[in-house]
Amino acid sequence: MTVISAFAFGLAFGSFANVAIDRIAQGKALGGRSSCDACGRVLRWWELVPVASYIALRGRCGGCGHAIGLRTPAVELACGLAFAALYAATPPLAAVVVFAGLLLTLIACGALLGRRERAHG
Ligand SMILES: [Zn+2]
Repeated sequence: MTVISAFAFGLAFGSFANVAIDRIAQGKALGGRSSCDACGRVLRWWELVPVASYIALRGRCGGCGHAIGLRTPAVELACGLAFAALYAATPPLAAVVVFAGLLLTLIACGALLGRRERAHG
């Protein structure tokens, strides 16, 4: 593993984190293909590349033009940079995996809390 692959892993992890945040908050299952929130169109593989797809699509759904929102690439990029920085500081892969686990727990808690707030106004 290199800093570059740690960055790529972080980007992919950030992409998953976005999906997890949205689906847990909406009470949906974590499995299944990603689709547009507005038109429901199932996204193609090239529309799911972290950060690059957001830039290529200019931040909008390729089908209906609905704005994707800056949170998506921001979370992806933040995770990419965090993982690369962590790997650069503490090379063992185990440290990165532990950090990923901690982050996932945080995401799950945050999403569940947001869901509760939404349900109770
Ligand atoms: Zn759409």
